[in-house]
Amino acid sequence: MLYKGSCHCGKTAFEVEGELTGAVACNCSICSRKGALLWCVPRDALRLLNPEEGIGTYTFNNHVIEHRFCRACGTHPYAEDAKSKGERMAYINIRCLEGVDLASVPVQDFDGRSM
Ligand SMILES: [Zn+2]
Repeated sequence: MLYKGSCHCGKTAFEVEGELTGAVACNCSICSRKGALLWCVPRDALRLLNPEEGIGTYTFNNHVIEHRFCRACGTHPYAEDAKSKGERMAYINIRCLEGVDLASVPVQDFDGRSM
């Protein structure tokens, strides 16, 4: 299935191909602040529809994950593995997807416990 997503202002728009069967409420120091619900997909399944210049990047700790955000409205639509990593994954914030009933998506914490 093809999902469409965007930040609040629309400067960051994207499509994701895959089956959304669950998400993770990550408890790392940044995700717990943002409240993002993350869906892990191969990076190739994520297609950006806008120029990448509008998207900011935040990294911390060992800098293996690039936390992306819209420079205009500050929304955090996704993160992705750093380009230095061979097989890259993207971590889609399903709160930014269109037409997804969040209550119907099973959410687990980082340790696999249902929430
Ligand atoms: Zn925006």
